[in-house]
Order: sequence, then C-alpha cells, then structure tokens
Amino acid sequence: MRIGVAKETAAGERRVALVPETIRRLGEGVEVIVEPSAGEEAAFPDELYRDAGATIGDPWASEVVLKVAPPTADETARLHAGQAIVAFLQPLTDPQGVARLSSAGVHGFALEAIPRITRAQPMDALSSQATVGGYKAALIAADRLPRFLPMLMTAAGTIPPAKILVLGAGVAGLQAIATARRLGAVVSAFDVRPAVREQVESLGATFLDLGVEGEETEGGYARELTPEQQAAQQQELQRRIPEFDAVITTAAIPGRPAPKLISAEAVRGMRPGSVIVDLAAETGGNCELTAPGEETIESGVTIVGITNVPSTMPTHASQLLSRNMASLLGLLVDDGELSLDWDDEIVAGACVTRKEATP
Ligand code: NAD
Repeated sequence: MRIGVAKETAAGERRVALVPETIRRLGEGVEVIVEPSAGEEAAFPDELYRDAGATIGDPWASEVVLKVAPPTADETARLHAGQAIVAFLQPLTDPQGVARLSSAGVHGFALEAIPRITRAQPMDALSSQATVGGYKAALIAADRLPRFLPMLMTAAGTIPPAKILVLGAGVAGLQAIATARRLGAVVSAFDVRPAVREQVESLGATFLDLGVEGEETEGGYARELTPEQQAAQQQELQRRIPEFDAVITTAAIPGRPAPKLISAEAVRGMRPGSVIVDLAAETGGNCELTAPGEETIESGVTIVGITNVPSTMPTHASQLLSRNMASLLGLLVDDGELSLDWDDEIVAGACVTRKEATP
C-alpha cells in the first residue's frame, strides 16, 4: 500500500508530516510517496527521502495521505472515497474543512482528536508540538528581554535573576518553565487545574496562588472558568504581574477562544522593558492586547503574538510529529493494508469523518 506525504501549502508552515528516518519504521509492504520538496523547509531534502527508500511523486492518490495542516478545498478535491488522511484537521474549529472530507468519503483522522490515554502517548502530536512551543517561548522571552536571565556576579556588580511567570502549566507551560529555569530565571507559574501545583514545584518553580481553582475534565483538560472566576483571576493577576519581567502565557480550553487572563490595564501596570509571550495568540490570545501574528509594544511592554511556533523549529517539530504519525499508522495499517478497527478507542476517537461501508 502507498502512504503519501504532502507538501504543506499554508503560509508560514515549514513542517513536514513524515521525515526520512521514520520511513524504515513503517514496515514491509508500504511504499512511501513524497511530494517534491515536501521536507525542504524542515531541512529534509528529497535526496534524503530517496535514500530512505521513498519515491518522489504525487502523494494524493495514496491509500493514506499524511499532512500537517488541514487540506485546502483544492487539496481535498484531489482525494477520493475510501482514502484516509491524517493531519491536524481542526475538528472543533474548522467544520467546513471536515464537512468537505466527509462529502468526499475520506476517512479523516484528526491528530487533535486522539484520546489522551496512556496507550496513545507515543502518537500524541498535541503534546509533541506543545513541547516545541513551550521551549521556544522561553527562548523568545529571553531574547526580547533587555536584561540577563541568570544572576550574574561581576566586577561591575551583581545582576539579579529575571523573574518569569508562566500562565497555564500544561505541556507547553511545563516545558517553558523547565527551559526558563535552565537559563537561570526565577520562575513562578499558575494553572487552574489543581493537580498542576506539584508538577510546577517539581520543576523548581513556585506556584503562584491566584485564589482561583478550576476543574479538570476526564480527558485531563481544564473546564472553562465562570465569568466571575475569570474576573477574579484577572484582578488578582493585575495585582501580582508588576513583580515579573516576562510572562509566558499558554492557557487554553480545547475548541474555545483563549481565556483572557491579562487585561490592558494589567499590561500598563508592568515595568517598561517587560515582555509577554502569548502562545495562545492563535485562538485570540491570553492577553487583551495581543495582536495574533504580530509583535507590538504597549506602554513599553513587548507583546509577542507569534502563531504556529512549532513551525519555527521545523526539523525537530517534524521529527517528533513524524514519530507520532508512525505510531498512529501502526494502528491503521496491518500487513501492508489499511485496516480500521472501529472497536479500538484510539482509531474511533481520532476519526472525524468516515466512509460508510457499502452494503
Ligand atoms: P491545553 O493546551 O489545552 O491548555 C494549556 C493549559 O492551560 C492547561 O494546563 C489548562 O489547565 C490551562 N488553563 C486553562 N484555562 C486556564 C486559565 N483560565 N488560567 C490558567 N490556566 C488555564 O492543555 P495541554 O497542555 O494540551 O494538556 C493539559 C493536560 O492534559 C496535561 O497537563 C495532562 O494532564 C493532560 N494530558 C494527558 C496526556 C495523556 O495522558 N496521554 C497527554 C497530554 C496531556
């Protein structure tokens, strides 16, 4: 059977769904067809794919097509009934794209919809990409700050360490904490899920108590706060935020706009030269003043509204994603054939469109 690797067409998307090293792991009976220059922006030229046994050609007729971003209308038009596609299909926010796949009779597997159970961890692409995002957010904060992160004792005197606050301590937030700590900053963090306090502390950061406690859903996600809780959180944060040199925000509720944590007034209360890196910019931002896709300065505070952060580190982001893809393919392909076991909760959970079996 053929597995196709599509070249990304979305603006600024530099990742690729499968890297050469993974091809060998796909086993016997699988032919990999890679669209020309699909991996080029991630530093995987066609030659490396050829060396790994792939063919460079048209991936769209393959039994399974792998992609990072959801297919455009034109790309979906190249698919036919019975094929499968695996990508970040954005099932909660792109109903039209999902509907197009559904009318084409394509089996759509959304990486976001893989249940977050222990057995699915090797295929958890949300986590692998959030790890990249959190790491990079700490580096961006360090880069934009007009000061050192670590404490320095020099002949010219002592420099105190920078203080960084991380809001939302899920996968990205925990990685941001770990990275900022390694760079020598003093880190505090907050999350509405009570279970997170211990994880924050185990990384050597302080849990900032904002007096708001939310709930965790069965899937491990946060439940959206009530308007009263949100207001209380904003207010308490406004009081505490001037202590910090940089704030990295990662708070998210699946399928919902990002919760607004930092008001415009709170930004104005920060010292000039402070930095906010808003990893939630893609879903509207955790800061009221974030401009998605842009970097702005408000009252001397730099607000980084960067989107698609994993794409800024395309080599490792693609490598991790590629391993997630290979693990998921392990469930979808059996003995060189597409074999979909709808009784498997990962297969059924990840599937957002499905070709009905013909009687
Ligand atoms: P996410 O990207 O959906 O959200 C990021 C963080 O924002 C979460 O920790 C959430 O609690 C927090 N948040 C939401 N609203 C907030 C608010 N108003 N203020 C502050 N923080 C707020 O989450 P994620 O990082 O993808 O995953 C969250 C959790 O899911 C993980 O920490 C873990 O417990 C669980 N998980 C489980 C598995 C697994 O078992 N396979 C894999 C990955 C994640």
